[in-house]
This record gives sequence, C-alpha cells and structure tokens, in this order.
Amino acid sequence: MLRITLLGVGGQGIKTAEHIIGRVAFLHGYNVQDQPLYGAERRGTPVFAFIRISNTKILSRGYIYSTDFLVVADYYSLLRPELHNFLKRIKKGGIIFFNTVNNEHKVREEFNISDTTQIVTFDLDSMAKKILNSNVLSSGLAGAVCKILDFDLTKLEEAIKIETEEILSSDEHGNELSQLNKNIELAKSTFQSLSSSTINNMILSRDNEYEDFEDNKIISLQNHHPNISKNIITNTGNTMQVIRKGWNLFKPIIDYDKCTKCRICFVYCPDSAITIDKQNFPQVNYNFCKSCNICYTECPVNAIDMKRKNKID
Ligand code: SF4
Ligand code: SF4
Repeated sequence: MLRITLLGVGGQGIKTAEHIIGRVAFLHGYNVQDQPLYGAERRGTPVFAFIRISNTKILSRGYIYSTDFLVVADYYSLLRPELHNFLKRIKKGGIIFFNTVNNEHKVREEFNISDTTQIVTFDLDSMAKKILNSNVLSSGLAGAVCKILDFDLTKLEEAIKIETEEILSSDEHGNELSQLNKNIELAKSTFQSLSSSTINNMILSRDNEYEDFEDNKIISLQNHHPNISKNIITNTGNTMQVIRKGWNLFKPIIDYDKCTKCRICFVYCPDSAITIDKQNFPQVNYNFCKSCNICYTECPVNAIDMKRKNKID
C-alpha cells in the first residue's frame, strides 16, 4: 500500500488536491481511501490530508503515521515545531515533494533530510500565480503527485473535471469553463515539468495489515477547568498552540451593559476563545479568537459587536 500525506494551510486547496489524487488512483483501478483533517475555519492554519492507495482491500483507517510520500504545499509549515516531526514519519525510501523556490540541496540542508529520502522541489506558487492568478494549488499539487506516481495525464484531467464540478460555480459568461480549463492547464504544466519516480511500486507491497501506531499519539484530552467551554486538544497543530491574533481582521467587543450572562457565546465559540470570569461574564481571549463571527451571530441580545482592528498585532 502507498500512503500519501499532504500538508498545507487552509485556502491552498489541500482537500481538493487529495480528492483529485484519490480519484485518479481510483480511475486507474486501485482501491483508494482519502480523507482530510482540519478543524473549523482553517483558513491560514494547518490542514492535512491522507491518501491510501492499494491493489488489495484497504483495512487501515484514519490518520497515517508513517508515510511513503509527503507533499508539502506550505514550506514554512515545517518550520513550526509541532509540524516538524512530520519529517520523521517518512518511511525509508520515501519521497517528499516541496512547493518551494529552494533547490533540493538547500531543502535537504535546512531540514536535515537524509539521502535515503528522495526530494522533489518545484515552485508551484509561481506557476499557480501565472496560470490561475491565485494561490490555490489543488490541481497543481495533483499534477505533481500524479507525475511522480507515473499516473496517466488523461485520467488526471478526468479527475479534475469530476472533483471540481461542484466547486466551480458557473455564471452566464461561462466562467466555470474558463476556471476549469485553467486548473487543467496548471495540472498539465506541473505534470510536464516533473519526472516520475518508482515510488508507485509501493502500491503493490502487501503491508496492509500493519500500521505503526507506536509513540504517535497526536491528541491528548485532559481535564480542564469548567470555565473553559470544551475539551482543549493541547498538542499538534491545535487551538491552544495556534495564536491567531496576527491574521484576524475583526475582534468581538462585548457590551457588558447588554450582556445577560446567558453563556451562549461561550458555548458556541469553536476555539474556546471565550471563558467565563468570576462575575459570570464572558471574556474573549484575543490570542485565540479567529474572527469567525459566531459569537456575534448567536448572542440573543446583540451584546457583541465585531470591530475592525486598526492594525495587525
Ligand atoms: S469571533 Fe467569537 S466565536 Fe469566533 S473565535 Fe472569536 S470569540 Fe470565538
Ligand atoms: S451570548 Fe451575549 S448575552 Fe449571552 S453571555 Fe455572550 S455576550 Fe452575554
């Protein structure tokens, strides 16, 4: 079985890339399992996706701990301490694709990657900017992975059509078609810029029964004070380790004259950014607020206003 892990940030199209790659493998007649992993409202924060491809029935489920093929869409994610250990999960003989302007030598040196791991580097951001005029990389990532896996270009095109059908909404000017064509062009250009490898031989290996779960716990649920509204996952890329104040544009301001202490905002906040103080009033921790507007929308007495921040802090 071949195990692929994609690593990027929300907004780059990681989930769509995973769907396209999975679809291409399926069109080649393989058994496929693919799933993304991300929290609510992940734009700008880490997103993972996992794909298993095999020529026999896939018995494993869920998170991939030891991967054959790591696809790094956001180079700088790997500089985060909690994500850096993804590099330790590459199996011997595995391969890493980096979207970067750096060459293989620089990448190997920067991340201390041994010669037993193959590295492919490609500046996909520039290619996507040129063709799509955006930083959405899904079809480009699929193009890169499919070429490295020596998959068929026509099946890649077919998969992009199937998997983007619901995403690309049309208008009377035919913009859907032009977006689809541009995505196919990006996939093709990336596909044609890279070389294939022999990694796809792993699809045929008979290691379905066993996946290494030792020492790979990614979440730990602990007991927290009841003034925190929900369990907080305190490790690997999760709420209380990801400071959001640098990229949110609005901040909720609570009018305590209107607040009835109903706690609805506290319960609804998806990131536990609201706690309850000793007077039973809600307090927002702006380090963890991501400006999702949910508290603002849910407050029954309109006691919360979203104020535009004057500066990014
Ligand atoms: S806007 Fe409100 S609900 Fe959303 S993260 Fe911030 S405090 Fe929580
Ligand atoms: S939802 Fe509104 S009224 Fe209720 S605790 Fe929050 S701010 Fe106060």
